[in-house]
Amino acid sequence: MSLLVVGSIALDSVETPFGLKEDVLGGSATYFATSASFFTPTQMVAVVGDDLPQSYLESLKARGVDIDGVTREKGRTFRWKGCYGYQLNEAETLDTQLNVFQSFSPRLPEKYRDARFVFLGNIHPELQSQVVDQVKAPRLVAADTMNYWINSSRPTLLKTLKRVNLLFVNDAEARQISGEHNIVRAARAILAMGPQRVVVKRGEYGALLFERDHVFACPALPLADVFDPTGAGDAFADGFMGTLATSDRVDGEMLRRAMVMGSVMAAFTVEKFSLERLHEVSRTDIRTRFSEFKRLTHFEDLGSLEG
Ligand code: AMP
Repeated sequence: MSLLVVGSIALDSVETPFGLKEDVLGGSATYFATSASFFTPTQMVAVVGDDLPQSYLESLKARGVDIDGVTREKGRTFRWKGCYGYQLNEAETLDTQLNVFQSFSPRLPEKYRDARFVFLGNIHPELQSQVVDQVKAPRLVAADTMNYWINSSRPTLLKTLKRVNLLFVNDAEARQISGEHNIVRAARAILAMGPQRVVVKRGEYGALLFERDHVFACPALPLADVFDPTGAGDAFADGFMGTLATSDRVDGEMLRRAMVMGSVMAAFTVEKFSLERLHEVSRTDIRTRFSEFKRLTHFEDLGSLEG
């Protein structure tokens, strides 16, 4: 089953306690599609400026990503500058330059309109909504967002939320959207805004999947080397969506597997800067890591308490 992603392609400048990288390839759609190449054919909708080296797009194409939906416009590519402290869970945005995104209006190639699984990456919620307008009969539409859009475009975001089946957020974003501090209450409030499911990503503390009457928790893999969390959220979303799209199933068993696969892909992403680690890993590495999660979390049912 094909997977459609709309999101940013960016030139990122990122500082962590372990180093600084300037103008490296990033963006929500880039991380998602790079990870997606392991799972299922992926179609990408985004815009770049005339300053983005064509080789960056070719590298996505070489991984099997369909980039026919990526347009090149006159002007500068979207730029994001962020930094992380030793508490690597949340980025501080230092600068956001929308550039070609300011006048972007996504137009889906005809062949993309049949997409069954759709990921609306972190971009203006109005653009996310324009993509939903163009897909014919999606099985599952999931969205991501961030504080930038929650602050600047809240009414539009709330309208978009009514049109999506699932929302990916981190805990700070869940609190900001809902106005609730407690994560369970925040997730319930978001469910009341439209989506049937919400995934709350909590960095090193794992992720929670909330449905109206179920919660599923997946820990994060305890990692000794964490260098750059940028893109972990998008890689998580891809492991999750890629699992559902590959099986063409959205049921309890597959959603739990999707949560683990999301955590697997996020764990790879943070181990090196930018896309470096995602470019190195193989399907065997992914399988091995999936098994590590099973060992990490598996335990037997309780027998008698008295032994
Ligand atoms: P995450 O998976 O949440 O760490 O996403 C990281 C990516 O989001 C970075 O590579 C940025 O280029 C991109 N990004 C940051 N801010 C925005 C924004 N306001 N709109 C679109 N993309 C953004």
